[in-house]
Amino acid sequence: MQRVRPVRKTHQHVTPPALGALAVASARGPIASNRTAVGTQGKRRATPPSCGTGPRTADFVQPGLPSATLTVRTRGGWKAMVWHWWRRRTFRGGIFVPDEKAATARQSIRSFTPRGPLLIPLCHSQHLPTRPIAREGADVCCGDVLADPDGPRSLPVLAPLAGRLGPRRRAWTSAEGWLPAIELTPAESSPALPTEPRSPPRTLDELTSLARRNAVLIPEHREPLHVALTGPRPPDVLIIDGLETQPGLTADLRLLVERTDELVQTAGWLADVQLDGRRVFDRVVLTLSLRHRRLVRRVRTLAPHRRLEIAPLEDKYPQSHPTLLTLVITRRRTPPGGRDRDVGVLVIPVATLAALSDAVSGKAPIARVLTVAGEAADRPANLLVPFGTRVSELVEYASPARRPAALIAGGPMTGVRVLHDEAVTTPDLAGLTLLRHTAQPEPTTCIRCGSCMDDCPVGLDPRVLVQFETAVSLKAAVAEQTAVCIDCGVCSYVCPSSLPLALTIQRMRRRAQLERAALATMHAS
Ligand code: SF4
Ligand code: SF4
Repeated sequence: MQRVRPVRKTHQHVTPPALGALAVASARGPIASNRTAVGTQGKRRATPPSCGTGPRTADFVQPGLPSATLTVRTRGGWKAMVWHWWRRRTFRGGIFVPDEKAATARQSIRSFTPRGPLLIPLCHSQHLPTRPIAREGADVCCGDVLADPDGPRSLPVLAPLAGRLGPRRRAWTSAEGWLPAIELTPAESSPALPTEPRSPPRTLDELTSLARRNAVLIPEHREPLHVALTGPRPPDVLIIDGLETQPGLTADLRLLVERTDELVQTAGWLADVQLDGRRVFDRVVLTLSLRHRRLVRRVRTLAPHRRLEIAPLEDKYPQSHPTLLTLVITRRRTPPGGRDRDVGVLVIPVATLAALSDAVSGKAPIARVLTVAGEAADRPANLLVPFGTRVSELVEYASPARRPAALIAGGPMTGVRVLHDEAVTTPDLAGLTLLRHTAQPEPTTCIRCGSCMDDCPVGLDPRVLVQFETAVSLKAAVAEQTAVCIDCGVCSYVCPSSLPLALTIQRMRRRAQLERAALATMHAS
């Protein structure tokens, strides 16, 4: 929590200009209950200019922040109001990008039925090896195991639909590139999904085995949930990210709106999971967008107990990044090149929470909700798509009349361009962005405006950093700075000279890793 020093003494008479020094927000709306009143008194005769027009006080005020009671004259007469010294929970830098969510934010999730054969990757990542047991020509049911995990870290691969298996092929995934895959022709009539509701896990062992059996994956770094929970430093803070700051994507928002009760309940039992008689997580925090006030209110009323914290945050990009969520919620700084897990924090998206909720209700994890949108999408939608569905089928659905000029897997800020017809949907794909134009402005000379440095959320100076790209060997300090970069793409977005800063830093980081590996091999031999 950030502390703000009050600048007015108790019972001091304050005049309108002094109100600015009180750092007031708005006097309307409920007041956070756990406040520390310092009893500053004052009088003013005009209606506060921000009264009723600013954001609701309770949305911003953190419990424990000092407050002041003022007697103010409003149109309705004299009123005693509690004013708060507040600061928004946020980070330095970042930008407010046009969210482009209007096309799909109010569209309900629809089930998508693939017409052609599926191409199911036989492992979730190159780092998670499996032993395929599926044979060509075999008939499988929905949820049958196609590949067993090879090692304690790995996850099984399940059949997303009932049907007949075809030949082994290769599938392209946005996160991992080419992976071995198997074709599955869906049956004419797929039997109803078998469901066996289970009781929610009470211990860490029960939770990890549930997550492993149901192949629950954290999209960031494609790490299995059971591995993240039992790593060298088990997390003591769990952050569920419901912000979804990537422009254009609304899959998580729709999940939260349509399955609010279920997801809040799941977050509630996660807060109660125990290890050796003690709770695993000291804090479980659900972050939501400040703009979705109705959703915030609903979640607050449903939250089963006070151990599930609701944190409404600004939609500033890239607030959803685990490094920044960790900083804003816990004030812990991840080391350069490190992850939230290194400082005892686990950040999961709402999609992972939904997968856990499905696992408890006995539904096989065979599909995920993804947003298909973008300027070239005539039918933008939120679709529940079985894993292994060809991306080309979704493009045909969203833009039946014409092919988009380019297709991006993910959001427009950090997505990956899809160049292959064998691209398929995977558990870590949150959306597709269809573009009408691909023309990029030509990069010109840096005009030293400083925007890239001002907006970089981790405090780098990209303009200076990229100047080392042509160096014969990257110095240790430069290599460390490239590791600090979180690949958010903000610097490239704001650069008026259209310089590909983020891409250059990414390239430099890979080069630094290769140089480090070569040096280690040289020392070892
Ligand atoms: S891509 Fe890296 S350097 Fe650029 S703004 Fe984001 S964190 Fe900073
Ligand atoms: S934003 Fe672009 S033009 Fe401005 S200082 Fe950075 S690199 Fe130079």
